[in-house]
Amino acid sequence: PGRVRVAVRLRPRSAEDLLSDADFADCVELQPELKRLKLRKNNWSSESYKFDEVFTGTASQKRVYEVVAKPVVESVLSGYNGTVMAYGQTGTGKTFTLGRLGKDDASERGIMVRALEDIVANVSLASDTVEISYLQLYMESIQDLLAPEKTNITINEDPKTGEVSLPGAVTVKVQDFDHFVELLQIGEGNRHAANTKLNTESSRSHAILMVYIRRSVPEKVEDDINSQDRKTKSKLPLVRKSKLLIVDLAGSERLDKSGSEGLLLEEAKFINLSLTSLGKCINALAENSPHIPTRDSKLTRLLRDSFGGSARTSLIITIGPSSRHHAETTSTIMFGQRAMKIVNVVKLKEEFDYESLCRKLETQVDHLTAEIDRQQKLRESEKYDLEKRLRDCHDSFNETRKNLVTRSELLEQKNTRLELVIEEALAELNCQKDQNSLLEDKIADLEMSLKQNKQNQLENSTYQKVLADTTQMYEKKIAELMKQLEVERAKSESAEEQLDAMKKLSDEHKKLIQHHEMENSKYQMALADTTQMYEMKITELTKQLEDEHTRFEGAQEQLDLANMLLADYQNSTQGQDETSELRLKLEEMYRLHESTVNELQSLKAEFKDQIQEKEAISEKLYAVQEKLSAEEKRRKAIEHELVNLKKGAPEGDKHFEDKKSYMKENIRGTSVLGTSASLNKSGTLRVTQSAQRATIAKICEEVGLQKIIQLLTSEDSDVQIHAVKVIANLAAEDVNQESIVEEGGLDALLTMLRSSQNATILRVASGAIANLAMNEMNQGLIMSRGGAKLLAKTASGTDDPQTLRMVAGALANLCGNEKLHTMLKEDGGIKAMLGMVRSGNSDVVAQVARGLANFAKCESRAMVQGHRKGRSLLMEDHALEWLIDNCNTTSASTRRHIELALSHLAQNEDNAREFISSGALQELQRISNESSREDIRNLAKKMLKSNPVFQGEMRLGQQ
Ligand code: ADP
Ligand code: MG
Repeated sequence: PGRVRVAVRLRPRSAEDLLSDADFADCVELQPELKRLKLRKNNWSSESYKFDEVFTGTASQKRVYEVVAKPVVESVLSGYNGTVMAYGQTGTGKTFTLGRLGKDDASERGIMVRALEDIVANVSLASDTVEISYLQLYMESIQDLLAPEKTNITINEDPKTGEVSLPGAVTVKVQDFDHFVELLQIGEGNRHAANTKLNTESSRSHAILMVYIRRSVPEKVEDDINSQDRKTKSKLPLVRKSKLLIVDLAGSERLDKSGSEGLLLEEAKFINLSLTSLGKCINALAENSPHIPTRDSKLTRLLRDSFGGSARTSLIITIGPSSRHHAETTSTIMFGQRAMKIVNVVKLKEEFDYESLCRKLETQVDHLTAEIDRQQKLRESEKYDLEKRLRDCHDSFNETRKNLVTRSELLEQKNTRLELVIEEALAELNCQKDQNSLLEDKIADLEMSLKQNKQNQLENSTYQKVLADTTQMYEKKIAELMKQLEVERAKSESAEEQLDAMKKLSDEHKKLIQHHEMENSKYQMALADTTQMYEMKITELTKQLEDEHTRFEGAQEQLDLANMLLADYQNSTQGQDETSELRLKLEEMYRLHESTVNELQSLKAEFKDQIQEKEAISEKLYAVQEKLSAEEKRRKAIEHELVNLKKGAPEGDKHFEDKKSYMKENIRGTSVLGTSASLNKSGTLRVTQSAQRATIAKICEEVGLQKIIQLLTSEDSDVQIHAVKVIANLAAEDVNQESIVEEGGLDALLTMLRSSQNATILRVASGAIANLAMNEMNQGLIMSRGGAKLLAKTASGTDDPQTLRMVAGALANLCGNEKLHTMLKEDGGIKAMLGMVRSGNSDVVAQVARGLANFAKCESRAMVQGHRKGRSLLMEDHALEWLIDNCNTTSASTRRHIELALSHLAQNEDNAREFISSGALQELQRISNESSREDIRNLAKKMLKSNPVFQGEMRLGQQ
């Protein structure tokens, strides 16, 4: 059994192709290494088909023959029927592939020529026969191409064997290869060729070459069962009859396109009949249908015993590269694809050559009769011989019996004598037995002692071994201990070294401190000195100043006096000398006064400078003091570390743990929504996460949940961040949720959403709330404390996709509680979800879709149970538009949620009108057919069927 082998061959671009569509790409792309052909559907997509072989435009005729036809020819040579057939549009190379004679260029020889070459080379024309018929099928009439006057040849079918024959057709016995080529040429000359626009060489008729082969089988050797002589074997002469069909089909194009103006409608109808009928048979065979409509046309009747079924078949489909013939090329490829599904069960047709068999059997009978005659004679003489020998034997037997009787008498006498001797020997034997038993006792004793010796020896050796083993073991242990000792020593040395270094360091520090202290005291002394000195100077200067002042006052008095005197003098108009004298004195006084004032100013400046200097020094002093205290602190820290080191040295480092590390962990890994979020994460992350959780749980135990919750309200935002991260982690575990809520954690988280401006806090707090919102009890609490409003506010205030995802997750969880729906809608929860989609982040969108699906599902459940009525709350917030717009998202889970949401919304009859007007009904129909999930498809179907409004609408649509 085998399949119909189908190869596809692409004709290279012809001159016409090049002229007419030079600008267009080929409509096919071959992948010969994959045996695939890509057929372009449009500019952006193509379909790929697999064939048994794919030949590019450069494939040689030889290779095409070897791959397509040679296996069929070989099987025909071994007695099976076979067919090679070419199918394709006119001008794509069917005749080129099959019928080329290759007279000018031997490499162009087609399949017909090459097949006959192979056949002629493989049969012996002396004992075997090769006959051909060459026919044309045109307008449902068979014409003999070798005798063109014979038209309308009838087809005969043997009702028993199903064999097809054409008694009216000429069959010519092929003498040699050249004879065959001659016959082909004659046939070609007679072939009716209808010219078409597409190709002037191509034909509208089917050309059929039939090659009948009759071969005598190399005689089979079989054992003759009745023969006594195994060397004689009978031989059965056999002939094998087989048939090779090579069919060059008419062009497969639709006639209206090929522009066959001059043709009769009749011709078109008949050509179509044979090819369409072939197509139908192939479809039926491919589908393994019990009825194959072979009777519908001449072509299929002719091919009945040679295509599919019981013959080996190869089909070569020919195509052209041009996009102009895209439709024809497509249908050709589909034809080939269907033919690939046909399975054959090939039958060997062998017949007995009865005449020669009869002749052979007669000679055998003669031979056997003579033989039997000869054997009978031989047997008679043998019988006489045997009787004679029997008599002789009888005589000799009697004589021997006499001899035996005399000998037995003699033997009896000897026997009695021997019995006497035995008795004597027995007595002696008993005596020796006694002695023997004595000796045996002795031996037993000796053996006992020997055994004991041996045991002792054995024990000794085991002791020695044990001793050696234990010694070895102890030595090993000692070596190990020594090693350990060395390691410990090395460790303690290094610890000592570290200790020394630390000591040195601390000494240095001490020295430094002493030095600083000394310097400090020096500075202080100097400061005191200078202060004293300056104070003294200042007092001196003040004194001087005071003196000067009194002096100045005196001078002033004198001046006043002088002035008075001068007035007196002027009044009295006497004593001018005195006046001039006084003026001189006055001037001198004035100069003195001026110099004093100058001195005073310089002293003041000096005083100011000194005060500044004093300030600088005291600043320096302060800096030094500060440095000193820092050094002191550092020293203390080092000492502390030293103490720790001393303590820790014997235990090693393994107990040291960075207890703060979890604080720096990123909270983003926290599972907010259980499934969807954590599914995407790699295993390692999950491991670190659980490790993180474990540490957090430990901390919680140590610190106490209440304290951590108190930290949520801390003033320090860093502390708040750490605390909220811990709470978010704890909230991911169901067991912690109740206590978190009891201890006021939920309130604290909501307060955070209300008042915090910190992005991290908002994100993590939303995550924590999302975790808490998984629990139905918490959902009510969250809602009653304004959680939905706060979440909506948080969503509107941020663009951070992580925060949005958490918020969306929290809201999606709340959507799963039907009792809260009205409140959720009134608090703006649904609007907030639909608004969050603006971020475009796929995780956020997925959460929103999940929320809507949750909402719709609960709503439809409530409808069924009868505690809800009226149009869906979701629809009021315009969720339907969003669902329709996002129906074709690429994320599978989002898509599934949207499909679910739509299906559940469809349940509500009050939604139906809007469903129809918004186009959601079409979407629902599509879901019922195309959704990737069977359950959703079924749900959608159920909704479509159960809703009378939809039914009516769909009936209208069909009309
Ligand atoms: P069909 O029999 O399918 O109508 P033909 O065999 O007559 O097509 O081929 C049409 C033309 O294309 C002929 O000129 C032929 O030589 C040429 N042709 C077909 N196939 C090939 C090929 N593989 N290589 C080169 N020329 C080819
Ligand atoms: Mg042709």
